[in-house]
Amino acid sequence: MNILKTLLIACLAAMAVLPLEAQSVKTVQFCGNSVNDSTTEISLFLKLLDSSGNPVTTLDELSVKDCLNVFEDKKLINWDDAHIERIQSGKRIPGNFTFSVLIDLNIPDEDKEQIYRELKKLVESAPDSCVYISFYSNHVTSSEMITSKNYAGFKEKFMQKGGNNFFYSALYSKMAEFTAETQELENEASRVDGYQKNPIIANRASANKGKNILIIITSSGSQLTMDSITFSDVDTYQLNADTTVIIPKVYAFYYTKNGEIDVQVKEVLSDFTEHEDLTGDRKGKLLLTDNFDDIINTLGKTISKQMYDYVLTYKALKDRYEGATRFIAKWNDLNAGEGTILQIGSKEHPWPDRKPEPNDILPQALVALLTTLLTIAFFILILKALIPWIKSKMFAAKYYKKYVPEANVQRRVCNYCKQELQPGQTIVTKCKHYMHIHCWKINHYKCAEYGQNCNEGIQEHVEWNTLFTKHTLRDCKQTIAGILAGLVSWIVYAISQNGEFLGALAKPIVNTFYKSQGQMINLADLEDKVSAFLAIGLLLGFFLSLVFRYNDEYRKKDWKVLLKIFGLSLLSGIIGMAAFAIGGCILCTWLPYTHASHIPWYCSLPAYLLFSICTALSLTIKSSVPVKSAVLGGLCSAVIGFIVLYFGDIKNWGMLLNFIIYGGGLGASLVTVRALAEKYFLVIQNGVKAGQRIPIHKWMNATGGGNKVTIGMTGDCEIQMNWEKSNKVAKEHAQLYIDQTRLMPVIKPLANGVVYNNRAELPVGKPSGLSNGDTFKIGDTIFKYEETD
Ligand SMILES: [Zn+2]
Ligand SMILES: [Zn+2]
Repeated sequence: MNILKTLLIACLAAMAVLPLEAQSVKTVQFCGNSVNDSTTEISLFLKLLDSSGNPVTTLDELSVKDCLNVFEDKKLINWDDAHIERIQSGKRIPGNFTFSVLIDLNIPDEDKEQIYRELKKLVESAPDSCVYISFYSNHVTSSEMITSKNYAGFKEKFMQKGGNNFFYSALYSKMAEFTAETQELENEASRVDGYQKNPIIANRASANKGKNILIIITSSGSQLTMDSITFSDVDTYQLNADTTVIIPKVYAFYYTKNGEIDVQVKEVLSDFTEHEDLTGDRKGKLLLTDNFDDIINTLGKTISKQMYDYVLTYKALKDRYEGATRFIAKWNDLNAGEGTILQIGSKEHPWPDRKPEPNDILPQALVALLTTLLTIAFFILILKALIPWIKSKMFAAKYYKKYVPEANVQRRVCNYCKQELQPGQTIVTKCKHYMHIHCWKINHYKCAEYGQNCNEGIQEHVEWNTLFTKHTLRDCKQTIAGILAGLVSWIVYAISQNGEFLGALAKPIVNTFYKSQGQMINLADLEDKVSAFLAIGLLLGFFLSLVFRYNDEYRKKDWKVLLKIFGLSLLSGIIGMAAFAIGGCILCTWLPYTHASHIPWYCSLPAYLLFSICTALSLTIKSSVPVKSAVLGGLCSAVIGFIVLYFGDIKNWGMLLNFIIYGGGLGASLVTVRALAEKYFLVIQNGVKAGQRIPIHKWMNATGGGNKVTIGMTGDCEIQMNWEKSNKVAKEHAQLYIDQTRLMPVIKPLANGVVYNNRAELPVGKPSGLSNGDTFKIGDTIFKYEETD
């Protein structure tokens, strides 16, 4: 009991110390924020409101500190690292607000003078370029920027005589000015000669949604003139407004002299002030009065309402802000401003924007290198361990069986140890040469007859101890090359600030295809995204093509060949960039329909898919990569790219992973798919190129497409023997093709000296069939023809 009493007294004592206003604060309003890049401090603009919504401005800083707690994303902002300041004069309206003030010149002169004086408060407390003013009576005038510097010059304009009353034209024009696209009836309004829509208003409005205010001061009295814009035009505009149109918050002041009210004017103003946006918080206010002092009072209050009175400044709590940040205010531990979202930074431009420091570069390079090595190891594990292991397990499940004596067979021996198979022993039944499981393993997982009387008795298996050897590295050459190409692309991408150099190309794409003004996405962010796209396309296209073509080239790499590789790679880069440019157009067209506040990952997907397929196809140009495997490989890597895209982010490490996994994936899928499609090879048997396998299936196709491989000295030949030193090779020396009737490959000499299987010289012009293992000699080079299953 005593404790309770003490507590109660303590509470009462604490309350007595607090000024009265401190107890009357019911709401803490967040008006906006600014950030300081050099100190990484965030400033929140606050307004304290009492229960009837009037600002409380008299509390000093200490009292506010005593009562107020602000949480950033649920984390308390500690007063030890923060301070609050009361602002009583100067610029107290956040710079991202835009005010358009529309004034009826038919209002009596002395009243207009009052408006003029009252607006001074707005002009003085808003940063320049926030306030615009226009008039109407005989015509509607253009909106002009009004600042504390040019304020005096507007006096004369206020004092112009009235006359006609083009109210609807004025309302329609000013409303439409918040949206960049010309609205349907805009040009029909009765406007002054040389009227111009002020483009700054729409620009500012689209960058700062929900911070746009239209103040209308109108009067009854003068009859509405025959206006080309009617009541229903304006009302329809408001009713049909979709997300592509920006409707500002409207504060309307209707001065009803002698009680005359135009019902339609009242209705349309009421509709606009009641207009809510999707978040439901764009309600303005309509004041209808025959007492002009009311108008001036309310106008003053309305202006004050837009001003913040306190600034809370604190050290950033996080290393990175990516847009929506949620603030909650508590006043004396009671919720006083719940869930206010302010945008700090954005997903594309996180804040603070830290430039990499010089001593960051080495650790970054090491991380990049480590990531690359781990990615290589990851791919090797997948390609050389995981996939073969699964295949091996599947083989075991299918062909490892307990031996059951067969009815009509008396005795069956193991083909390896020649001992009789006993019932219940585990045997391998892949081919007809049954073997003990242990014998099978001793014989390196293959049939004892394999290679002689057997061509199916073999099991894929993983040699764990030889996994990371030279042999494996050679098998995974294309994959590793792809990963390294990804790494190099990323380095160039990072050095070029995410492809900033392509901004000049990205801008027109965004301007042409991104039509929506009603979205939350910042145009600059979108331009960055598209220029990043173009850079990814150019760099990955170029470097992937460079390494794949270099690996694919079987000729001696003299400068001519290297130049050709370079030129074709440049072409691939341009194709990649073009694919991403189209992808960028799709992104910009799609984006408005998503109503998202940042760019959703799936909007980038078409760009990646298109890029994957186009790049893979571009690799088939003048190379031995067949179109079919390129398309499949492209699709596989698109899937990989998609997964990386989904989990990665556009900045730094996510992007590095994106690049190298993509490159590795394309390499791996090209090789894998190609291994399935590859069938015919020429293997060089001697000389500097000994051991080189030239895949000729690309050109030899029994089912259509190309069906001719020419061998000779000129560049027109599919196989240009530029390594050959002797002068015995003709410009076009021999031709290989599939004989369509016999469905077998044949060789047709075009010049003398083609020696077949080291024995006979083949007659010129007469085709001879080729079988697996046949050799032929042209000049000093011996080719062996090989087929794989
Ligand atoms: Zn055996
Ligand atoms: Zn066998």
